[in-house]
Amino acid sequence: MDFDAKEPTMAQPTDRETTLQDLKEEIARFTAKRDWQQFHSPKNLAMALVSEAAELMAHFRWAADGGDGAILADPVSVRAVRLEVADVLLLLAEFANVAGIDMSQAVAEKMAINEDRYSVEKSRGTSQKYDRL
Ligand SMILES: [Mg+2]
Repeated sequence: MDFDAKEPTMAQPTDRETTLQDLKEEIARFTAKRDWQQFHSPKNLAMALVSEAAELMAHFRWAADGGDGAILADPVSVRAVRLEVADVLLLLAEFANVAGIDMSQAVAEKMAINEDRYSVEKSRGTSQKYDRL
């Protein structure tokens, strides 16, 4: 790995201070400065997003437990996982930019669907898919 296991500094904004719009604008600025919009088709971004999600998953491949033991107890691994989370989030934000999707509205729409599909009465304590409840 080409980085050490530094923790984020206190100067960096946290989830409490950063909005989804902030993230969308940050990745849009980064992209525009490099003239990368030409590469950011929805197809390319969706493929990049899945690739980065696979990089996140790869950290947990072969973990004997759920991954919270060996992986998330190791500071070097934690930082690597944190950076993959950032990759996934930034690519998702850029996908939303390109596709014209308001992420908060999409989440609200989907959560309403999930609330309907997974009523607490039917889904509590089970991992069954909604069509099997
Ligand atoms: Mg990555």
